[in-house]
Amino acid sequence: MNEYVGTQGLILNEPLLWERGRKGRTGFSLPTRDVDPVALDAAIAGEGPDFPDLSEVEIVRHYTRLSQWNYGVDSGMYPLGSCTMKYNPKTNERQASLPGFAGSHPLVPSELCQGALQLIYELEHDLAHISGLEAASVQPAAGAQGEMTGMLIFAAYHRHRGQTRSKILIPDTAHGTNPASAALCGFKSVPLETGPEGVLTPEAVAAVMDEDTAGLMVTNPNTLGLFETHIRQIADIVHTKGGLIYGDGANLNAVMGIVDFSRAGIDVLHINLHKTFSTPHGGGGPGAGPVCVSRELAPFLPTPRVVKDARGYRLTEEFPLSIGKLNAFYGNFGILVRAYSFIRSLGNQLKDASQHAVLNANYIKEKLKDRYHLPFDKPCMHECVFTDRHLEPYKVTTLDLAKRLIDYGFHPPTIYFPLVVPGAIMIEPTESESRENIDQFITTMRAIAEEARTSPELLTSAPRKTKVRRLDETAAARKPCLRG
Ligand SMILES: *Cc1c(COP(=O)(O)O)cnc(C)c1O
Repeated sequence: MNEYVGTQGLILNEPLLWERGRKGRTGFSLPTRDVDPVALDAAIAGEGPDFPDLSEVEIVRHYTRLSQWNYGVDSGMYPLGSCTMKYNPKTNERQASLPGFAGSHPLVPSELCQGALQLIYELEHDLAHISGLEAASVQPAAGAQGEMTGMLIFAAYHRHRGQTRSKILIPDTAHGTNPASAALCGFKSVPLETGPEGVLTPEAVAAVMDEDTAGLMVTNPNTLGLFETHIRQIADIVHTKGGLIYGDGANLNAVMGIVDFSRAGIDVLHINLHKTFSTPHGGGGPGAGPVCVSRELAPFLPTPRVVKDARGYRLTEEFPLSIGKLNAFYGNFGILVRAYSFIRSLGNQLKDASQHAVLNANYIKEKLKDRYHLPFDKPCMHECVFTDRHLEPYKVTTLDLAKRLIDYGFHPPTIYFPLVVPGAIMIEPTESESRENIDQFITTMRAIAEEARTSPELLTSAPRKTKVRRLDETAAARKPCLRG
């Protein structure tokens, strides 16, 4: 019996449609005509595009084969740390494609889209409730846009108090979008070094926090998969100097319904619905990055906002302190329906989902730490971070390990991130994987560690079983070849 998932099997080559086409083939048949053919007027029709002639079955096979070259959460485990690639229940898709939701136009008057407005209204309340904060806006279309929204809110808040502050504190483990969002809003980012325990120390924050600093952006749990245990004390230091705390909530999957972010001192938190609330993602979108805010910051939320009164739900711009509109309409509505469906189908079991995500990550950490170097050996949250230090004597790197995992039928984890951990291997199993799948992943990782010792060339030449072998990544980026 094959012990591994494996990638062997029928992987068919597929030429371009232009190479496959033959003159005169067609994907449809019409009744025989009973009039003489008349050529189109060339002056009007022009040359026409150079489309190949293909039969229906050729087209269906072409796209089916291309789809089979792909890999997604519906094919297998996708342990990409920081991305929360969990299974997305199909019922969410079903609700999102209900004609009343999928077909409604954003310019439809409020009276005629009460259901859609109610969904937005309730989702915003659910998200605020889950995070422990006061109010939310689902308008931002991605986590990064949520960050930008948060930074605009910071700026508006300080302006409202008659202050201009120029700096934002950002830990060195932050996602690259954090300093980018701060810079987009005119702030200068000040890097904070992570402490020896893998978390921020109050001392490091106190040393740089001043009255020209608008606030701190902190990811919690952070990108090392560790909970920022000093968050409350850090928030107090920042608040005492008049600053605000931005929470990057991309890792909310570890703490849904468990952490009350207002008690942790967070003023604004973004949530990635496409990560935590189960929307298919990858390849750049679409997504949604709602922001949740404290009572004090609610007046600054983007408009329009959905409000409820005696006549029902409506969109309103009546918030004079608002930072204004972020999108042409109201964000990526289809994603909101999926998140609403996910939240309503789990109800108070959201907490169990997070606990399973954390348990799975700790299980992997414990089962691999005798083979792979674990820079922070303590309980983790939803992901664990190893390095390639133990592979160094065999001249094998994190990249080689990642490529070898493909031979065994696993999507590689996130590698070389966070940047503060050299050779990082960041594994996030999520709550969706069964014990058997996780055990198989662990067995594979252990087998690869053994291969590194006995036959390192199996790793350095991997992947060996795929359609395309290891690419020269620099050449691939500089001279992309898009043929199959
Ligand atoms: C994914 C992620 C982001 C950015 O979110 P997008 O939705 O991709 O824009 C920000 N911070 C962290 C920690 C993330 O993992």
